[in-house]
Order: sequence, then structure tokens, then C-alpha cells
Amino acid sequence: MKVVGAITDIREQINTLKSEGKKVAFVPTMGALHAGHISLIDVAKKHADIVVVSIFVNPTQFGPNEDFDKYPRTTENDLDKCKVNGVDIVFLPTTEIMYGTGERYFSIEIKELNEHLDGGSRPGFFQGITLVVNKLFNIVRPHYAVFGQKDYQQYRILQKMVEEFNHEVELVMAPIVREKDGLAMSSRNAYLSDGERQKAPFVYQTLLSIKENIQNGEDNLKLLLQHKRDELEAKGFKNDYLNVFALEKMWPAKELKKGNTYLLAIAVYLGKTRLIDNILFEI
Ligand code: AMP
Repeated sequence: MKVVGAITDIREQINTLKSEGKKVAFVPTMGALHAGHISLIDVAKKHADIVVVSIFVNPTQFGPNEDFDKYPRTTENDLDKCKVNGVDIVFLPTTEIMYGTGERYFSIEIKELNEHLDGGSRPGFFQGITLVVNKLFNIVRPHYAVFGQKDYQQYRILQKMVEEFNHEVELVMAPIVREKDGLAMSSRNAYLSDGERQKAPFVYQTLLSIKENIQNGEDNLKLLLQHKRDELEAKGFKNDYLNVFALEKMWPAKELKKGNTYLLAIAVYLGKTRLIDNILFEI
């Protein structure tokens, strides 16, 4: 496994591999790798000959009051995991390599897809993500790039970005990997105290119970969601959003139509930790 920091080096290595006819799949991450990330690496392997993982805690996607400074950084451990799991190249740039030191002259405006969910709650978040993924795609120029359903809105926004900016990459979405008790794996789960960790599976249980209620014919969606939000608050969670979203624009669904697929998505705070989760379901 090669660990590369410089843009010219990774370009050269990937150009050589491509000239040998190799297909390249790319998994962008912020490190603190867990089984969710490893599952993306496995999906990448199925699509291509060469798997490239980037590890970069991207400052531009963190708001001023968010956890950039204390975001877990476990590089040595991450590199071991990449090696054991058959990654070919790790791109490990510094912030200076990615962004230089000077001011920036461009930002990407994202329209409707950015209004709700994390786009609505975290101003600037998806501008930071589209910026860094644009740069990473231009640096790595992969045939495939794998992203998790865990960040479904991210996937939708990047799908549109690839389309509108004519990136020559095919995006692949991988399912959410969960702990045994249902909690979606996340690097941020490391922030949870023991007590919080015990409560955390209630997030996924809530999603499953809403889905079941809807599929069993509950037609007052507004009331059902309000009841579930109250339940979460009573258990000590602080709601950010809990709603059913139509996939096209990622807007809250006003009514659910038979035969359609929707995203049921949640973001809550447990203490200081922000947890997100979602399920896709057909009605
Ligand atoms: P992050 O390091 O949190 O930026 O995530 C890197 C990639 O891993 C993103 O495409 C995430 O959607 C994906 N990911 C994070 N957690 C999970 C999970 N539990 N299951 C599957 N993919 C995940």
C-alpha cells in the first residue's frame, strides 16, 4: 500500500495505473475509520482493480461552532486498517496541500437540494463538501467513487454535481453499516458517554417504528412524526430534524404516494453529539 501526500505524486501513480488499463475506485473519508468505511472499501474493490482512499478532515465543511478541532484523528490506526483491507493507495494530504494558504475566489452555490436536512441545519456544510469532493475528483480522477447511504443528501448533491460539472466518474452508494444494536456506525459515536451510548439505538428504533406505522396504513404523518419527536425529547434527545423526504429535491413529503420511495431521515443531539440516520422505504 502506498501512502501519498503530494498531488503531483498521486496524479503520476494514478496515470501510470490507468495507462496499464486499470480501473480506479475512490473512497473519500475523514478518517477515524470504522466498519462503515471498510464496507465502502469492499464495494470499491468489487468495482475496480485499484482502490484509493483519501483521509482528510476537511475544514471547509465545519461551521465555526462545530467540532473540527476535536474531530477524532487516528491516522496510524486508519493506515493499518486500509492495509489490512487491501487498499492500494491512501491519499493523505495536509490542509495546505488541499487549500493552499491564500484566500479563495470561488464557492459553489447549491440550490433546492440544500434547503432541508443537513443542508438546512448546517449552513455552508455542503458547500464545503462539494468544494473538497470537486478538488478530490480532479486530483484522483477515479472511474468510480463510493459514498455511504448514511449521508444520503450528500449522495444526491454529489450525483447532481457530477452531472452538472461533467465529472467523468460513476458514483456508487453503499448501505448503512450498523452496530449490533442498530446504531449507525459513525466516527462521532466515539464522543458518546456510556450512558448516551446506551440510549443511542433509540434513534434507529424510532425510524423503524415510523416506517412500520406508515406501512401499516397510518395516514396522519404530521401527527405521527410529532409524537415521535416528543418521545425523543422525553428520552433526552434534542431534535434537529425528523421527517419524510421526497427523493427528487430532498424536500419534506406533503403526502405519500403508493409505489414511491421516500427517505425517512433524522438528526438529533445526544448531549453534544450530533447523530444522523435514515432509511429508504417504499410505500
Ligand atoms: P466520513 O469519514 O464520515 O466523512 O464518511 C466517509 C464516507 O463513509 C461517507 O461516504 C459516509 O457516508 C460513509 N459512512 C459513514 N458512516 C457509514 C456507515 N455507518 N455505513 C456506511 N457508510 C458510512
